[in-house]
Amino acid sequence: GADPAPAPLSPRAGGKPRVAFYWNASCGGCEEAVVDLGDGFAGLLERVEVVLWPVATDHKRADVEALPDGGIDLAFVNGAVRLDEQEDWARLLRRKARTLVAFGACAHLGGVVGLGNLSEPEALLEAAYRAPPSVANPDAPLPGGPVRVDGAALSLPVLLPRTLTLADVVPVDYTVPGCPPSPAVVQAALDALLGDAPPPRGAVLAPD
Ligand code: SF4
Repeated sequence: GADPAPAPLSPRAGGKPRVAFYWNASCGGCEEAVVDLGDGFAGLLERVEVVLWPVATDHKRADVEALPDGGIDLAFVNGAVRLDEQEDWARLLRRKARTLVAFGACAHLGGVVGLGNLSEPEALLEAAYRAPPSVANPDAPLPGGPVRVDGAALSLPVLLPRTLTLADVVPVDYTVPGCPPSPAVVQAALDALLGDAPPPRGAVLAPD
């Protein structure tokens, strides 16, 4: 049968619902879609406590890891999953968030990033990092390759064999469709999820 409707996101004692925004393999348009709420954006910031938003706040991965499991009330993740680092973020946010939203077509279905599944990974790397005349240093390390940062030997994130959706990696509670979701769709989704009667889990949050 259908999943029961979840409990409303009641504010924490003396506080507001904790909300995270994160981007995986994304063009940034879904981030822009949140800012495009206009007055609704200011209203959002009054209603919630933002605990992660890489384009707007200085929170680090360690800040998220320090939260208790379930310590984020609502996490919006846009972008497909194309790197091992993004897979790790998806699992981390699934563990920390009571409610996880696949935000936008790339997180939902693979979107533009999913077109990469028409080619083998080696061909993608060649086309993106080696062949274009605009590539200044064709010997620069590729995804998965070694780099030195502040003297430390590190590895770049590894390209996965294929593009994954968010739901390919972790269970997803809701989907917000669109490329990017329009301001009306984003506002309706926020109102639904932050309201007193959230929709049943598994819902695609699009206005009629
Ligand atoms: Fe960009 Fe569209 Fe993907 Fe959002 S769904 S990250 S706007 S390509």
